[in-house]
Formats: sequence, structure tokens, C-alpha cells
Amino acid sequence: MAEPLVDGFGRVARKLRLSVTDRCNFRCDFCMPLHPVWMPHSEILTYEEMTRVVRILADMNVTKLRLSGGEPLMRRDIEKGLKLFRSVEKLESISMTTNGYFLAEKAKALKESGLNSVTVSLHSLKQERFEEIVGRKDVFGKVLDGIKTAKAVGLHPVKINCVITRGCNEDEIIDFVELGRQAGLSIRFIEYMPFDGRHPWDSSRLVPGSEIIAKIEEKYRLLKLPREPGSTSVSYEFADGSAGSVSVITSMTQPFCGDCDRIRLTADGKIVPCLFSRDEYDVKKLLRGGASDEEIASFIRDSFRKKFAGVETLLKKKKVEPLVRPMHTIGG
Ligand code: SAM
Ligand code: SF4
Repeated sequence: MAEPLVDGFGRVARKLRLSVTDRCNFRCDFCMPLHPVWMPHSEILTYEEMTRVVRILADMNVTKLRLSGGEPLMRRDIEKGLKLFRSVEKLESISMTTNGYFLAEKAKALKESGLNSVTVSLHSLKQERFEEIVGRKDVFGKVLDGIKTAKAVGLHPVKINCVITRGCNEDEIIDFVELGRQAGLSIRFIEYMPFDGRHPWDSSRLVPGSEIIAKIEEKYRLLKLPREPGSTSVSYEFADGSAGSVSVITSMTQPFCGDCDRIRLTADGKIVPCLFSRDEYDVKKLLRGGASDEEIASFIRDSFRKKFAGVETLLKKKKVEPLVRPMHTIGG
């Protein structure tokens, strides 16, 4: 095995977030600009090119792969991609974050092609509100079906991502908790991060994770679980032994950048060491320019060494500026 991938602060990469496409059929309020500009098809990496980077990274002990986007299920023949990624022997697991719209029809094939687990984004349990948030009509039922089918075909675990924003859905925190308890789901509440979507980012809409946990504890006693190194979330079980769990992703109020273990690859072949930095390094020109695996590995090492210190650096500034790069191009 090659040397592990280490950044300038000594943080070691173990997880790859791979954005397989920038395209999406939803227009979430906090993610997608009103008029998105898609990457030209010719710029998007083929599955073979992606697999080559996955293999080079797996050899450096980056063995946990999460597929994201855009909407990963919008990418044609995603099952083919999964099978190719699966062929990388050193890969430990493949998971996916999806809006769930195509999940009911694809879950079985995804599982058979090598997907282990899935996280579905669901920001409201009220149809009208959900559809307002995601900017699409008649999609709520399909997302709920997708969650049920994912469980039924044995994708495990099935988690729910819920971005809580002030004045929109913070009144549904307990409803989500009840869903988690009844359906045995892990509910992940995400703080609103500084990316421009339909509106410019607005810090007054951020609901801190501490407030979310305090709200839940008015009703249920929670048991905090030890945080896994490198995890973006703090998780809790219910003291009464109920099924389900809750997590908060406190990227803004309590970031865990100190032991971050992620590296990102965009659909158009940019290595992005940190979600909160605009730095990116074009590995596609090497992939398409005849470079050897060793040259690509060395380019990735040099890029990753320059990884940004973390969100704390942004927060030290008086005002957090939203990141210009749209969230859907980097894969959340
Ligand atoms: N389309 C897929 C989905 O929605 O699950 C995967 C890509 S999406 C960019 C990945 C995750 O980022 C989703 O859970 C989404 O809700 C979350 N997200 C998008 N914009 C966000 C923002 N401004 N703040 C916090 N989370 C955000
Ligand atoms: Fe699409 Fe996911 Fe962004 Fe929503 S959060 S617009 S589903 S990429």
C-alpha cells in the first residue's frame, strides 16, 4: 500500500466524497441557484476516469466512498459506475446521499451493484412545505417511497438528512424525531451552511445544533454517543431504548475540522480538499493527458497537503461570506 494521504496539519484522509454529476432535478432553496449553469458533458469524468482516481486513493487508504452530486441518481447508468467502483478491492464501503426521487425504482439495482447504505434528504414532513423547499411539485410521495424501498431492499443504514432553517421547518424537529423512533431511522439535522442557493445565504436562518438538541430534550432524554474520529456529526440514542437515533451536523457552530478525514472529487475532475474553501486542483488534465498512476498520486498528495485549516478560520471573520461555488457542484 502507498503512504497514507496527509495534509499540512497532519490530518489523514480516509473518506472520498465523489460528486458523480452536478445535475439535479430539484432546486432546493439552500443549495441550487435559480438559474444553474451545468457543466458541459465533455468536462464530466467518465466512470472509468472516476474509478482510476478511486483506486489511486484507495491505495492511499482512502477506503470509504460516498457518492453525491448534484443528484447522483440523475447520472445515467449509475449502476455501471457502482460496479466499477466496487471492483476496487481495497474499498471498504460505498454509500450515497440522494434526494430520493428515483430511489424507489432504483434501490434494488443499486444494492445489487454494490451500494451499502444511503442517506436521503428530507427537509419537511408536510408535502406542501417540502415541495416549496425543493422547488418541485408532486415529488414528496416518491421520496417517501424511496426511503421505504431502500429499507426493504436491505440498504443499511438508511439515514435522513434534514437541513433546518429558521422560519421554515424548525417547528418540525419533534415530528422528525417521532419518524426516526417509529421507522427506526437515523435522523441527521444539518446546520444551514454558507452556500448561495435560491437566495443569498443569510446567517439569521441558521438554527444551531445545540438549540435542536435542547428542543428534543424537552420531550426525550438523549444519550450522547462517543464521536467517531473524523465524523461531522454528534449522535444520540434515546434513553428509553426506542429505535432510531438523532445526530446534529454542527458545521457552523461547532465544526470538527481538527480531525477532518475527507477529500472531494468533483464531477468535472477537481480535487477539493475542503468544502469550505474555494481551492481546487484539476486532476482531469492529468487523467486525460496520459499521466501515470504515480504522477496522479503525487499531484493528489501535493493538492491535499494544501488543505484549508477549517471553518474556524472563516468564523473568526466578523461576517461569514457565502462561498461562491454552488453546493451542488461539490457534493455536500
Ligand atoms: N442531491 C443529493 C441530496 O440532496 O441529498 C446529494 C447532494 S446535496 C448537495 C448533499 C447534502 O447537502 C444534502 O443533504 C443537502 O440537503 C445538503 N445541503 C445542500 N445545501 C446545503 C446548505 N446550504 N447547508 C447545509 N446543507 C446543505
Ligand atoms: Fe439537488 Fe441535493 Fe442540491 Fe437539493 S440539495 S438542489 S436535491 S443537489
